[in-house]
Amino acid sequence: MEITYTNNFKEYKTPENLDPFTIAQQQLRHACELLEYDEQIYNALSEPERLIILKFTMRMDNGRLKTFKAFRCQFNSARGPTKGGIIGHPDENSSLIKALAALMTWKCACVDLPLGGAKGGVICNPKEMSNNELERLARLYIRKLSEFIGPRIDIPAPDVYTTPQIMAWMMDEYEVIKGIKAPSVITGKPLELGGSVGRISATARGGTFCIREAIKETDISLKGAKIAIQGFGNAGSHVAEILQDEFGCKIVAASDTKGGIYNKNGFNVHKAIEHKKTTSTIVGLEGTQQISNEDLFELNCDILIPAALENAIIKRNATNIEAKIIVELANGPTTPAADEILFEKDIIVIPDFLCNAGGVTVSYFEMIQGFYLHRWTAQEVDNLLNRIMTKAYKDTILRANLNETNNRMGAYMISVERVVDAMKLRGWI
Ligand code: GLU
Repeated sequence: MEITYTNNFKEYKTPENLDPFTIAQQQLRHACELLEYDEQIYNALSEPERLIILKFTMRMDNGRLKTFKAFRCQFNSARGPTKGGIIGHPDENSSLIKALAALMTWKCACVDLPLGGAKGGVICNPKEMSNNELERLARLYIRKLSEFIGPRIDIPAPDVYTTPQIMAWMMDEYEVIKGIKAPSVITGKPLELGGSVGRISATARGGTFCIREAIKETDISLKGAKIAIQGFGNAGSHVAEILQDEFGCKIVAASDTKGGIYNKNGFNVHKAIEHKKTTSTIVGLEGTQQISNEDLFELNCDILIPAALENAIIKRNATNIEAKIIVELANGPTTPAADEILFEKDIIVIPDFLCNAGGVTVSYFEMIQGFYLHRWTAQEVDNLLNRIMTKAYKDTILRANLNETNNRMGAYMISVERVVDAMKLRGWI
């Protein structure tokens, strides 16, 4: 059967199965096989504990009523309260939300946070909504969800197209409903409302700790390393900044939903960020040539960073990738078939739920600060994040090497084993 999949950049026609939850289950099955778990264990792990599907109607600024569909999936809570972001994107669906909630479960376990995994989303396009509409929608979503979330139950956070301001409205709505102050009900809040320093750049920073370790396995030097980044949102723009300013790398290419830019000698990231602020795209940045999102994957570079949406690296483009390291800041950017190709090509893949775990790790710090009504310094946040990410990276590589498997399966083995151990100790299995 031929499946057509729109990944927001380009329509790919491919016989590959790109359904996100099917992919998540395939990967889990593979991990269970490597761990020699039987079908009963796989069955206990492979479906979410709870999937909430909501529908609500809201009056838009133009006076018309609009009905929205929304989700919250709590995938597995054996290790603790469930945690995960809220997406506000027009293309989401329950399969994607379930897949991302599963990934959050493995992500929290991989970096050993005492948390389970969840994900939520509202099908909408925040780019086409006014601030007032966004606030009403955020509050409505939390009103419908308020009995299912809480600082000791399930803690949402930002994700694709959601912001600290949206988290602030959501926290406020929850507190009004419950009649208490509960800053730990949501993370990724503005600093003024109990957000953590370092949260905004945490996903990117966590990824750079992994890059620093990965590069030691190669003959590339960080200074002057050529970087291509797909996606210039929160993760993509922050990783570009850190790699340029602190590591001395050359950002040679980047892209957003409108297209990509390229300069083989590198471009100035701050100018690109400024350009995007004023024109809402990086395309057209002075001194760069325009390329397509597809071209970006096949460029001559040392490090390729998918930092946008799922299914970016598929069978068709994996063969042509020239980078030596792939840094998955996005969730689910690589399909299983592409994974096999990359493994054969000896490309180092830093798998998503390890690579981008910096975000949820600093979210966890934010929860702790919320419980104690206390603030950590930037130094405290960075040091602990560094320690957690570096350990998780080293454990993953060790596990992959021991089992002669790829890094993704190395990370899966660690995480799934931890979740299964917790389920056994609770007497669930
Ligand atoms: N949405 C982010 C992720 O996919 C962060 C989740 C969180 O902070 O809870 O990891």
